[in-house]
Amino acid sequence: MNGEMASSGQAIGIFGGTFDPVHYGHLRAALEAMEILRLQDFRLLPAGTPPHRANTYASADHRLAMLKLALSRYPELQVDDREVRREGSSFMVDTLGEIRQEEGDAPILMMIGQDAANDLDQWHEWHRLFDLAHLVIMRRPESKHIYSGALFEQVQPRMVNNPGRLLNSPAGLILPLEVTQLAISSTEIRRQIRTGLSPRFLLPAPVIDYILEYRLY
Ligand code: ATP
Ligand code: MG
Repeated sequence: MNGEMASSGQAIGIFGGTFDPVHYGHLRAALEAMEILRLQDFRLLPAGTPPHRANTYASADHRLAMLKLALSRYPELQVDDREVRREGSSFMVDTLGEIRQEEGDAPILMMIGQDAANDLDQWHEWHRLFDLAHLVIMRRPESKHIYSGALFEQVQPRMVNNPGRLLNSPAGLILPLEVTQLAISSTEIRRQIRTGLSPRFLLPAPVIDYILEYRLY
């Protein structure tokens, strides 16, 4: 690792997820991360066929459509649909490799919630993620940081507190980020819809309309 290697090119923020469905927990965290880190290029990237889950509930096309609806009035947050367009399963390490190819040695910042960060050592070729991108770990309600042995060894020496450090090198550092704590999850929203409760005010109204129209969840 060489976290201090000089970089050129505009920094890119990548926020991956299943977004099944997207909600204000995702959207608020994305906006705050983009502003705190002063990123001009920030992309939400829906997982195609996520390898770490048996299945998603809504299809990739529906999840992408809901994300686009949610962001239609906020063009500063972009959608990267490459995993949905690609056939078969998508590993984040491959996706980041592709983005790295396109972006040269620009800083790439991968956003991830604390719960997902705790499970990072379950991801395909997770060691390589640090060669490709920085990690920005966003605090999430009800998730403390718990890193198991091998993960702790990787995470600990890479930790920084100054966001500016991430913009001076292409990859390899980890920044914990405080964002407004919204205890919203897609699991809970799906449960509400299933049981006939209203998820209103937890996610954008056009996304709720879409869910009802297509009878998702
Ligand atoms: P599910 O309940 O189906 O797992 P989710 O709400 O966790 O859905 P994901 O699509 O799994 O949403 O999350 C994508 C990314 O967004 C993950 O890195 C996750 O940690 C993060 N995230 C999800 N909800 C929040 C939230 N309320 N605050 C901060 N980060 C969040
Ligand atoms: Mg989740």
